[in-house]
Amino acid sequence: MSTTEKPSELSRYSLTKRVMVTGGAGFLGSHLIDRLIADRHEVLCVDNFFTGARANVAHLLGHPRFELLRHDITMPLSVEVDEIYNFACPASPIHYQFDPVQTTKTSVIGAINMLGLAKRLRVPILQASTSEVYGDPDVHPQPESYWGNVNPIGPRSCYDEGKRCAETLFFDYRRQHDLPIKVVRIFNTYGPRMHPNDGRVVSNFILQALRGEDITIFGDGEQTRSFCYVEDLVDGCVRMMGTDADTTGPINLGNEGEYSMLELASTVIDIVGGKSRLAHKPLPQDDPRRRRPDTSLARETLGWQASTQLRDGLEKTVAYFDSHEFTRQKPS
Ligand code: NAD
Ligand code: UDP
Ligand code: UDP
Repeated sequence: MSTTEKPSELSRYSLTKRVMVTGGAGFLGSHLIDRLIADRHEVLCVDNFFTGARANVAHLLGHPRFELLRHDITMPLSVEVDEIYNFACPASPIHYQFDPVQTTKTSVIGAINMLGLAKRLRVPILQASTSEVYGDPDVHPQPESYWGNVNPIGPRSCYDEGKRCAETLFFDYRRQHDLPIKVVRIFNTYGPRMHPNDGRVVSNFILQALRGEDITIFGDGEQTRSFCYVEDLVDGCVRMMGTDADTTGPINLGNEGEYSMLELASTVIDIVGGKSRLAHKPLPQDDPRRRRPDTSLARETLGWQASTQLRDGLEKTVAYFDSHEFTRQKPS
C-alpha cells in the first residue's frame, strides 16, 4: 500500500500493510505478530535473538505473509515497510543487566536507527516504552503527566534511562522532522511465551509452583505490581498505531488491578495446587515499592482497557508452562 494514502480511521485496521516488528521473536513481539498476521498484514520480524527465540515464531516460518530477519538494531537497516513497531530490547532485570551497555545501546542507538528508517520512509513508528520510566514512583497510580523518580546510576538505569532517552528521541524526531510517532508505556505484562528463566515474577512463581519448589518472595512481598495479559496489551498497541498522526502518546497500557507479590503467590499456588511454600529472599536494589497505571488516557483515546482478569490470564499461562518440557528441568 502506498504510504501517501490516507485511509479512514476504520479502514486502517483492515488494509494490508507491510509491518516491521523489531524484537519480534520475543514474548510481546511474537504475540503482536500473531495479531498482525491475523489482521492480514505482511510482517517483517527483525530480531538478534538475544532474549528472543526462533521457537516463538516457528509456527509462522513458511507463512506467505511472514519474513524473519536476524539483525541487531544498533546497526543501520534498510528495508521498505509501511509501519514500524520498535519492541527490540531485553525487558527483564536479569537480561537487561547481563550486558547493560548493550541494553542502553539497543534503546538509544536502536531508536535512532529505527527513527532514521521511519524518517526516510515517512511511516508511523511505535515505541514500546515502559512503566520503568516512572522509576520508584512517588505519585500513585502513575499518570502519563508524572515525570518519574529514576536513579540515573543504579543497576536498573541502563534500562530505565535508555527507555527515557528513547522517548526523548521519538519526540525530537516528531518536533524536528514531523515524524508520525507513537509511544506506549507498557506496564508488567504476562502470558504464554514468557521466557522461563528471565526471573520475572509471574514466570518464576508459576515454574516454582509447577515444580513443587518454594516460591521466592523478594523482601516482605508487600510491594505491588499490576499485571496485564498479553492479548490485551497487543490490542492496545494495535489501537494506538491506528490513531491519527496527532495522537503521539505517551499512553499507559496496563491492567489497573494492583496486587502484592504475596497475593500473586497465593493465586498461583491456588491454581497450580501442590505443596509449594513461601521463601523470603532479599529485595533487589531499586525495586519499586508500588506500581499501577492510570489508564484513563487509553480509555479516552483508544477506547481500550485491559479486560482479562488476573486469575483467567494466569490459568492460560500456567497451561502454557505446564505443557512445556522446560518446566520439568531446573535451570543449570
Ligand atoms: P523479550 O526479551 O521477550 O523481547 C525482546 C526481543 O528483542 C527479543 O526477541 C530480543 O532477542 C530482541 N532484541 C534485544 N536486543 C536487540 C537488538 N539490539 N536488536 C534486535 N533485537 C533485539 O521482552 P518482551 O517482554 O517481549 O519486551 C518487548 C518490549 O516491550 C521491550 O522493548 C520491553 O522493554 C517492552 N516492555 C515489556 C514489558 C513486559 O512486561 N514484558 C513491560 C514494559 C515494556
Ligand atoms: N538509518 C537506517 N536506515 C535508513 C535510514 C537511516 O538505519 O533507512 C539510520 C542511519 O544509520 C542513521 C540513523 O538512522 O544514522 C538516523 O538517521 P537520520 O536520517 O535521522 O540521521 P543522519 O543520517 O543524518 O545521521
Ligand atoms: N519478585 C519476587 N520473586 C521473584 C521475582 C520477582 O518477589 O521470584 C518481585 C520483584 O522483587 C518485584 C516484583 O516481583 O518487586 C516484580 O518483579 P519483575 O522482575 O517481574 O518485574 P519489575 O520489577 O521489572 O516490575
